[in-house]
Amino acid sequence: MSTRKFAVIGHPIGHTMSPFIHQRLFELADEKGNYTVLDIAPQELSEKMNVLNELSGYNITIPHKQTIIPFLDRLDKKAALYGSVNTVRNGTVREGFTTDPDGFLKALAYGGIPFRGNVVIVGCGGAARTFVYEAALAGCCITLAARSPGKAASLAKEVTQKIPQTTIQSCLIDDLQGEFDLLVNATPVGMYPKTDTVPVSDRVLSHCRNVFDAIYNPLETVLIQKAQANGSAAVGGMSMLVWQAVAAHEIWDSSVYSADDINQLIEDSAKELKKKF
Ligand code: NAP
Repeated sequence: MSTRKFAVIGHPIGHTMSPFIHQRLFELADEKGNYTVLDIAPQELSEKMNVLNELSGYNITIPHKQTIIPFLDRLDKKAALYGSVNTVRNGTVREGFTTDPDGFLKALAYGGIPFRGNVVIVGCGGAARTFVYEAALAGCCITLAARSPGKAASLAKEVTQKIPQTTIQSCLIDDLQGEFDLLVNATPVGMYPKTDTVPVSDRVLSHCRNVFDAIYNPLETVLIQKAQANGSAAVGGMSMLVWQAVAAHEIWDSSVYSADDINQLIEDSAKELKKKF
């Protein structure tokens, strides 16, 4: 079997963990794949499509998750709903998928965190879109908290238009109050190198039963540490990063992995990240 070519595209994309994770997933599935990193600036995307079309598949990160869409022939159901693509399979047609939702749901399961009840999502950028849509599909009662009221209200309106039975309210982060079954951090607050920051106050956090922080660098943010100190279940973003990569291999090769292998890969990815930083 010849070695097929894959890549991740983004800009900037210096410290990505993707080659480490995907190369291991090819090995675990006994598939031959060569996975590289392509730094493509926004204005270069169109001219680089001939290179991308030669690949068997590729992953997409910021800032191309939306702008790639016009270059594809077809979107799967969730990519179309979200208007966002992070995985492409090149075959007779070029098909776009989003594996972030699968990564998020598996990460919650990995952390033993139920996805129901009152859920607060902090931030309203790309990652928050995944979390809000999934919370709506799961029938959660959603609070969307952001630093600017306009963006949160507009995302809440969009989700309600697409999933009409959604229960959702929006507010400023500083105005957050109430009891929450789950708090999801979808902001970069607490991310390397500004690791001593937290997205919500201690008061808000003390009313959250479970916490998911999308940040994976550091592996344990101050938010996670504080939540654990409160006795809450808390899980960081590394497991989501690995599980969304697993979903890409299911799309490319129908690969099947054991939970033990993926749990080991999450641990090894954490060690690899520590080596890098
Ligand atoms: P994004 O599209 O840039 O959105 C970031 C959001 O955070 C925006 O709503 C932004 O508000 C808000 N924000 C930024 N700084 C803030 C501050 N100081 N206080 C309050 N809100 C602030 O980024 P993203 O792609 O959604 O990523 C968000 C985080 O999730 C990053 O840490 C990223 O690494 C992580 N992530 C992890 C995974 C994973 O697999 N684990 C996947 C995707 C993302 P404005 O809109 O007002 O600017």
